[in-house]
Amino acid sequence: MSKNVFVFAEQRDGEIQKVSFELIGKARELANTLGEKVVAILLGHKVEGQAERLVAYGADEVILVDDKMLAEYVTEPYAKAIAAVIHEFDPEIVLYGATAIGRDLAPRVSARIHTGLTADCTGLAIDPETKNLLMTRPAFGGNIMATIVCPDFRPQMATVRPGVMQSCPMDTKVKGKVTKFTVPFAAEDMNVKIRKVVKAAKKATDITECKILISGGRGIGKADKFEMLKDLADVLGGEISSSRANVDAGWIGKERQVGQTGKTVRPNLYLACGISGAIQHLAGMEGSDLIIAINKNNTAPIFDVADVGIVGDVNVVVPKLTEAIKKY
Ligand code: FAD
Repeated sequence: MSKNVFVFAEQRDGEIQKVSFELIGKARELANTLGEKVVAILLGHKVEGQAERLVAYGADEVILVDDKMLAEYVTEPYAKAIAAVIHEFDPEIVLYGATAIGRDLAPRVSARIHTGLTADCTGLAIDPETKNLLMTRPAFGGNIMATIVCPDFRPQMATVRPGVMQSCPMDTKVKGKVTKFTVPFAAEDMNVKIRKVVKAAKKATDITECKILISGGRGIGKADKFEMLKDLADVLGGEISSSRANVDAGWIGKERQVGQTGKTVRPNLYLACGISGAIQHLAGMEGSDLIIAINKNNTAPIFDVADVGIVGDVNVVVPKLTEAIKKY
C-alpha cells in the first residue's frame, strides 16, 4: 500500500536548495495529518554529507542514491533514479520544487510511472474525508484558483512554487535514518555528454532570499523613481522589487517581478509603494510577515492585505521615511 510523503531534495553543486527545505516543512504537515513519515530523496555524487541537513529540517528518513551518473543534473538518469525509488518504496505523495530542474524532472517521472502531476502549486492539503491530496494552483490566467485531485493513481505528485511553503526550524539534535539505494544504471542512460560546466560569473540578486523588499508599482510614475526606492532599501538593508506593470514598461528587470508570473516572496517586511494590489500581485507577496502599503487611493485593494497602510503620495512619503530612518 502506498505510504509516506516524499520530497525530491534538489541540490546544486552539492548544496541543497532552499525550496527543498520548504517542501519538507509542508510534507511534515501533510505526513502528520496522514500519520505517516517524511522521506527525502537525495540524488548526486558524494552528497551524503547533505543528508543530515535534510533530517535537521524535518525529514524522518533520507533515501540516498549516490552515483557518478548523477554528478551533474541530466534528465534521463535523474528520472530513472526517482522512478526506481518510487517503484521500490511506493510513496503516497511526491513533491518537487517548481524550479528549472523540478519542472524538467517531474513530468518525465510522471510519464515513466504513469501517474498524474499538478504543476506549479501554491497550496497543498489533505482532504479530511478521502485523504486525497488537494493540490491548488492558479488557472485561467490566474483568474481562478483550481484545486486538483488525483484519486486513482499513486503517487500523487506536485511541483510547488519556491517561496510559498514555510520550512521547519532547523534542529541538529534530531536523528533520522539514511537508506542507501542503488540504481542499476547502464551506459545508454546517459544520453548527453557534458563537455564543460560554466558557472555563472556573479549571482544576481535573488529577491526570494531578501528579508526586506521595497517594491514599486506603476504609482511611482517613472523608471528613475526606483532610485528613490533604492535609497530607502539601502538604509534598511533591503532590496528593490516591482509589480509587473513596471517590468512590462521596461523600468526594471523581470528577475525583480513579484507575483503570479514573477517570484513568490516571503520577506520580513514588504513595503508596497504605489501598487494597487491586483490578485496576481498578491499571489506573490501576501505571505510576507509585515506588509506596509503606501497608496494615494484609500480604497486600493493592497490595503486589504496590509498590516499598516499609509494613504499618501509615494514621492512625498518615501523620501521622508528614508530621511527619518537615516536620523534614527
Ligand atoms: P496599477 O494597478 O496601475 O496601480 C497603481 C497604483 O498606484 C494605484 O493603486 C494608484 O492609486 C497608485 N498610485 C498612483 N500614483 C500614486 C502616487 N503618486 N502615490 C501613491 N500611490 C499612487 N502583476 C504583478 O504585479 N505580478 C505578476 O506576476 C502578474 N502576473 C499577471 C499574470 C496574468 C495572467 C495577468 C492577466 C496579470 C498579471 N499581473 C501581474 C498584472 C496585474 O493584473 C496588474 O495589472 C498589476 O499588478 C498592476 O500593477 P500596479 O499595481 O503597479 O499598477
